[in-house]
Amino acid sequence: MLNLYNTLSKQKEVFKSINPGKVGMYSCGPTVYGYIHIGNIRAYLLSDTIRRYLEYIGYEVRLIKNITDVGHLTDDDVAQGDSGEDKMVKAALKEKKSPEEIARFYEEYFKQVEKEMNILPAHFFPRATAHVPQMIKIVEGLIEKGFAYEKNGNVFFDVTKFEDYGKLSGNTLENLKVGARLEEHPDKKNPWDFALWLKAPENHLMKWPSPWSVGYPGWHIECSAMSTEYLGNTIDIHTGGEDNIFPHHEAEIAQTQCYTGKQYVRFWLHGRHLMVDGKKMSKSKGNLYTLEDIKEKGFSAMDLRLLMLSSHYRSQTDFSWEALEQAHKNLQRINDFVLTLEALALRDISVTNTFDVTAYQEKFEAAMNDDLNTPLALAAVYELITEVNKKNDDETLSSTDAKKILTLWKKINAVFGLVLSGQAEIPEEIKRLVAEREQARLGKDFKKSDALRILIEEHGFILEDTKDGQKIRLAS
Ligand code: AMP
Ligand code: ZN
Repeated sequence: MLNLYNTLSKQKEVFKSINPGKVGMYSCGPTVYGYIHIGNIRAYLLSDTIRRYLEYIGYEVRLIKNITDVGHLTDDDVAQGDSGEDKMVKAALKEKKSPEEIARFYEEYFKQVEKEMNILPAHFFPRATAHVPQMIKIVEGLIEKGFAYEKNGNVFFDVTKFEDYGKLSGNTLENLKVGARLEEHPDKKNPWDFALWLKAPENHLMKWPSPWSVGYPGWHIECSAMSTEYLGNTIDIHTGGEDNIFPHHEAEIAQTQCYTGKQYVRFWLHGRHLMVDGKKMSKSKGNLYTLEDIKEKGFSAMDLRLLMLSSHYRSQTDFSWEALEQAHKNLQRINDFVLTLEALALRDISVTNTFDVTAYQEKFEAAMNDDLNTPLALAAVYELITEVNKKNDDETLSSTDAKKILTLWKKINAVFGLVLSGQAEIPEEIKRLVAEREQARLGKDFKKSDALRILIEEHGFILEDTKDGQKIRLAS
């Protein structure tokens, strides 16, 4: 049984979907005014892992991930409705492009990164700019029902009207009154009210007509509009990074539940942050790494994927190159394990003792069922690798078992989503012999070249001369 930690109840709960066999899932997607960084990737990998595991246990998942192409205002005070820079517009002015051009460019980049990370594409990526009418409709409904008010073309949600405000984040009105320092906005009744619609200043680039003013939507309303549009009033799972909990998700709950009169989300899942030297990796702090930075240092997107799977999504993780190096080695180990199994499966080895494959599957599932404990699930795989290697050395693994283990690995890897190179890691010693042989061939010293080939083969590798040069692989 799958147990997931629900930020709303602050405990692990047995997961059950509203409609049997089907899951509706919404993940807060990127703000497309800049390159996404590997912290963002961690958040998207969380929703990918949930989706993949739900599919593994037999659910049909519908995943919606929004594209925030309205320059939303990220600082907390701004999110409360005060003036601030519109980051999309700022980026557009800097790059001398229209906000739309900027948004499309970074949206493409985001999708390319997801592809390289082997994050399965969402079933739909709705853009905020294409859903302004739906947002206006919700705001109208909230005003009608008395949950929101308009002043001078700005519309705010009246937080005092929603009893459950603060249940998700702990920022109840009492706590907000004492703790948070919220900037006053002249049109707000209470400092903790948040913006649903804002009147655009004269020179504002992104603005739409509305019953209240020519303006633009508040940051939170887009997710309520798009999630309910594509998934209905009650959603099974909603994900995001921990910084989304407040004010974004708290506000989403308030405005959606007051509008629909129904529970908005059953399971709220939040990933902890990826940190750098103890600080959150973020655009505004400028301490971020992109996938390009990772690749420039010689690592692959899959090294990064494995690194991220190696820590639990609810543990704050510090990014380090040493940890990435370790992930790189582990990925190679997994790759070699699969190559070994493939080789064994092709042979005809029959031994009497059989391998308990099911035990490993059970360990994997127990770990994943416990709030998607990917590090523990990976530990089960590493244990399996050690066992296979030992049996392979002793020549006590049958071809039939090798095939069974391969089948299990493919099932497990549908959840991990690791794309393996299918190439053996070549030891330095062998690489040196290959380079020496290349020199011999160039110098037309075929005797030496042949002798080196034999030496390489004696080490268990096969050398092929192709039009692109020498290719080396592990002998099966
Ligand atoms: P943004 O584009 O800033 O709205 O962020 C997109 C997603 O990435 C959100 O779900 C954020 O919570 C998440 N996120 C941002 N920074 C980090 C980080 N350093 N670690 C993990 N998730 C993050
Ligand atoms: Zn959102």
